[in-house]
Amino acid sequence: MRLLILEDDQALGPALAAGLRQHGHVVDWFDQGAKAHSALMGTDYDAIVLDLGLPGDDGVVWLRRWRREGKQTPVLVLTARDGLNERIEGLDSGADDYLIKPIAMDELAARLRAMLRRATGQTQSVWTHAALQHDPSTRITRWRDQVVELTRREMSLLETLLMHPTKVWSKAQLQSKLYDWGDSEPESNALEVHIHHLRKKIHPNIVRNIRGVGYVLGSESLLS
Ligand code: CA
Repeated sequence: MRLLILEDDQALGPALAAGLRQHGHVVDWFDQGAKAHSALMGTDYDAIVLDLGLPGDDGVVWLRRWRREGKQTPVLVLTARDGLNERIEGLDSGADDYLIKPIAMDELAARLRAMLRRATGQTQSVWTHAALQHDPSTRITRWRDQVVELTRREMSLLETLLMHPTKVWSKAQLQSKLYDWGDSEPESNALEVHIHHLRKKIHPNIVRNIRGVGYVLGSESLLS
């Protein structure tokens, strides 16, 4: 999942980013609302982690602005222990969930997974597609009951496709789910290489090319 973190605390921000990367996510951390705002306008994030206490415009102001401008990206707000009013205001302004500081990384990761399940209409914690099973909490993938060893990028790619099983993606859209702003520019054929590996490790039809348009998860009928 590609995540945006807006947190001005110079220790907590990078710690959250590092922790969520360890959980397999692609993460951009911003310490200023205006920078996060411009990133959000140009990038398709799956979820936002938003600190409410920010210098200048606080988190609620940014959240209201995003919702007003039609951004539906799920938002989890971070609040102080004594911030009951702040939490209520955050939820009323369009937040989907909240966590009270100090943050337990495993809980943050679990709440983000739950938020994403709701956003994509999934009811099961283990995603299945034909003979493929993927558990986003343990990050174990099985094909026909055999564990498939995937690299971090291959797994991000597979999760992105599984999350939206009928969506046709352009190359640029898929790449934006695999690389954050701090990553060096990937090789021009990097995406094709990851797709090639998924096909070899899982099934030749796990990813389909739609000529001139992009890529889509292979339908279950193609995966027998
Ligand atoms: Ca803060």
